[in-house]
Amino acid sequence: MLLPELRAEVVRFAKKMYDSQLVHATQGNLSARDPESGLICITPSGADYQLLTAEDIVVVDEQARVVEGKWKPSVETPLHTLVLRHRHDINCVMHTHSPYASAFGVVYQRFPMILAESALCLGDEVPIAPYQISGTPEFAELVVNTLGTHSAIIWGNHGVMVVGVNLALTFSTAHALEDSAKVYAIARQIGTPVELPAEEMAKLHSFWVNNYGQKALAQDTVGGK
Ligand SMILES: [Zn+2]
Repeated sequence: MLLPELRAEVVRFAKKMYDSQLVHATQGNLSARDPESGLICITPSGADYQLLTAEDIVVVDEQARVVEGKWKPSVETPLHTLVLRHRHDINCVMHTHSPYASAFGVVYQRFPMILAESALCLGDEVPIAPYQISGTPEFAELVVNTLGTHSAIIWGNHGVMVVGVNLALTFSTAHALEDSAKVYAIARQIGTPVELPAEEMAKLHSFWVNNYGQKALAQDTVGGK
């Protein structure tokens, strides 16, 4: 079996994504690129996270062609591979339906990174892509163009996508995004949220890039084991 360790780690983080309620049922998908071979391990289409094993993970190349696997890869595989082809500074792509961040994509309202941890890994804002049906080449282009060099993107009327150097950082960034959206939504109900100054957000984010960016973590797809 190709890439047994990376497959096992994709399973571990896919289960964490499910257990921490970033997704429910068979929603969402997760991929990780092996920096040496360039091959990508991705969750299968309709994955049952509770039963998922390393054998269920599909290995594809950067053109989304199946190299090894007994199931069909996630329907979003061409999107994952397009993102990975465009972004050599990251190795992992996670799509979730985390509810508070997704809600901002329903009202099409950007929210500031009001928590220090969120500003660290997400910078000053998360772009929102207009609604388009997912799973198409047009949608993949839209996501890549809207994501740009950001660490996360909200898909209008759908969910979110987060990218990262390794699985552990991608998972923590997905939570930082959801936490920021949730705390901002709560804070607005009880008062007027005070945003972090722009220069402070820039300082926090450059610290993150310098310490947790690709150069700092070269060849590390898993991280934080
Ligand atoms: Zn989705």
